Amino acid sequence: MSSDEWRLIDALRARPFSRRSATPIVGIGDDAAVLPTSGTTSFLITVDMLIEGVHFDLRTATGSRVGYKAMAVNLSDIAAMAGRPTYAVVAIAIPKGCDESLPTEILQGLYRAADTFGVSIVGGDTNATSGPLTISVTLLGESSGRGPVLRSGGVAGDRLLVTGQLGGSLAGHHLDFIPRVNEAIALHARYQLHAMLDLSDGLASDVRHLTRESNVGARIDARRIPIQLGPFADDRSPIDHALYDGEDFELLFAVPEEDARRLLSDQPFLSDGVSVTEIGHLTVARDVVLIDDEGERPLPEGGYRHQW
Ligand code: ADP
Ligand code: MG
Repeated sequence: MSSDEWRLIDALRARPFSRRSATPIVGIGDDAAVLPTSGTTSFLITVDMLIEGVHFDLRTATGSRVGYKAMAVNLSDIAAMAGRPTYAVVAIAIPKGCDESLPTEILQGLYRAADTFGVSIVGGDTNATSGPLTISVTLLGESSGRGPVLRSGGVAGDRLLVTGQLGGSLAGHHLDFIPRVNEAIALHARYQLHAMLDLSDGLASDVRHLTRESNVGARIDARRIPIQLGPFADDRSPIDHALYDGEDFELLFAVPEEDARRLLSDQPFLSDGVSVTEIGHLTVARDVVLIDDEGERPLPEGGYRHQW
């Protein structure tokens, strides 16, 4: 029987933790796990693996962009918790017979992302493989004194906001996006963030990660979604790309109405070219509804999920 990543994750989530003396504050199900420390902050830990042919194509992407992406997708998950990234370990499987310069280029890309956000690469593992190039980065972070922002804190009535623009990933943005680490930390310091995640599977799918964990629904206004225009290689509409393409790596977050009003008028990141836009709100009714000029309808599920 074929299956997919969500079924496997559900099965993993149902298992009790083996280590009972110091159980995680948050285990499986958020963008990063949250682990206790003896101090007032918590540890954050996340891992993401990139595989040639699934997440990038070496015929069109340079090793440097691939290395950058491998670190940046993890930075994005720490950003989703409003955490500060700190240390990484990196595991690489290099294809036998690859271009001689590929490993060095990958390292350059990894360090370009790590240096930008003050992350030290402190270890890893290197192998040769007859399979595809694979890079796995495990990234540690630290929550702010205000604690991590989870997916589960959304409240009906909260406004749903996104950073930046959605839908441009297939046009190449997935290789050079800037993880919203600094924005998330600044937002968390100045506004009440009830819930947050990064958009990795596509808005239509990711909004459900937030609503399900928060036991709410959402109404989203398609006309307000900030869309990054292509060029796209297909004839799907821009809004379709914005709703269903994965790997935008922008932040989706829920804030109380009052904070939303303040934040939208502040637009604190405009000088860096990063807008914050309200796209809808959370509701008591548990469904996710899309509104446009033609009326409203349940937002069809979709988005990327790994299947086998
Ligand atoms: P993200 O897109 O934010 O990186 P994922 O969709 O990859 O998150 O994963 C969702 C949740 O499931 C995360 O909490 C992740 O840690 C967990 N998860 C995914 N795969 C596994 C696995 N093989 N073992 C344990 N936990 C997993
Ligand atoms: Mg994530």
